[in-house]
Amino acid sequence: MPTFQEARNVILSHVRPLGEETVPLMEALGRVASRDIAAPWDMPLFDNSGMDGYAVRAADCSTSPAHLSISGFLPAGGTDQASVEAGCAVKIMTGAPIPNGCNAVVPIEEAQQVGDHVIIMGKVLQRQHIRIKGADVAAGARILAAGTRIRPAEMGMLAAMGQALVPVHRKARVAILSTGDELIELGEMPGAGKIINSNAISLAAAVRECGAEPVLIGIARDDIASHREKMLEGFACDALITSAGVSAGDRDLVREVMAQLGARELFWKIDMKPGGPTAFATREEKPIFSLPGNPVSTMVTFELLVKPALYRMMGHEKVVRPFVKGILAEDAHKKAGKLNFIRVTIKKRHGRYLAYCAGDQHTGVLSTMTRCDALVALPPEASFVPAGSEVDIVLLRDVDLIKEEHIRIAPAPMTVERRTLNGN
Ligand code: AMP
Ligand code: MG
Repeated sequence: MPTFQEARNVILSHVRPLGEETVPLMEALGRVASRDIAAPWDMPLFDNSGMDGYAVRAADCSTSPAHLSISGFLPAGGTDQASVEAGCAVKIMTGAPIPNGCNAVVPIEEAQQVGDHVIIMGKVLQRQHIRIKGADVAAGARILAAGTRIRPAEMGMLAAMGQALVPVHRKARVAILSTGDELIELGEMPGAGKIINSNAISLAAAVRECGAEPVLIGIARDDIASHREKMLEGFACDALITSAGVSAGDRDLVREVMAQLGARELFWKIDMKPGGPTAFATREEKPIFSLPGNPVSTMVTFELLVKPALYRMMGHEKVVRPFVKGILAEDAHKKAGKLNFIRVTIKKRHGRYLAYCAGDQHTGVLSTMTRCDALVALPPEASFVPAGSEVDIVLLRDVDLIKEEHIRIAPAPMTVERRTLNGN
């Protein structure tokens, strides 16, 4: 039986990035670039003013105060400006091109306009407050590396460089199949012995949250014909996730039917809890994740095992979020032998994560899942982990966000290394 890490390695070694497609820029958010993209032009495209002020010849300002006559006005977007004569200045707005002849900008705050003249008191250096052509990005430089996840900043860069279409890895289309005679679909009222197919919804949401496209193919009933039909439907997608029917029960048919349909099983059962009965197979290179049916096991195994695979399929280079360290705030008891992931709430104290039990840890208890912030990995060999122990944590939500009323100004100043920050 593989350990959790081994199981994840097996999965990751059997998935590869999907092909690429070209999408309009606005659809590229969250996608992964499939090729390097080079700057088609310099940025800035032309020397331009970094301030509202006066474009001048620095040499004209060597005597203080300097009196210059204002020979024109250049707003952002303006162009038609003849060369500026010695002894003259052009009133210029931020972003406007530097007129010919000028080599510095004096901010409005450092000058005094009197009628059609401007008086400049301070020292003026060549190139001051000028944003030089190509200083941000030179034409030909790489603006996006293949494998990079596109965030708003990358979107802005691509837009500034005129890239209306972006080559990205394909989104994985992920079939989601639930199995079980007890299931009804959302919208129906549960009769005796029936429950709503909630796994399909939580899985679809999780799939979408990681940037893939869920394809809901419904419920396979607990008979071979129904399983076959629905699984074949699922194989049309890039990956198939099934839930339930993968343990050792009389009606657990997933593995049997997978095998009949030519899937190659790479493992069944993992040395972990929840998620013990998980199976992983491939069919024609497509991954098939057979997750246990208990709603918590379904979600936990998705998070820990399926998500990294979907990331890899969608071209991400970084696919696994490492555990973070924290402190267990309460004693935890478990059966020795398996790696246990327990649902916890997190409090932050003095910059450290403190983990508290989020409630009943049975894998059927969904409310503990909605209440929890994170999972704590309790090591296989332990049967008791005392409060105060350092533990590995998988964060499931952004626990560093706080309510506005809890914002405090940092109490004591920190000593930091002195560096020159060249900002404006
Ligand atoms: P099984 O693996 O088929 O024995 O299912 C394990 C448990 O998960 C049973 O209590 C099922 O009723 C429950 N379960 C199975 N599928 C779903 C589903 N799609 N949504 C919610 N619960 C489910
Ligand atoms: Mg079942």
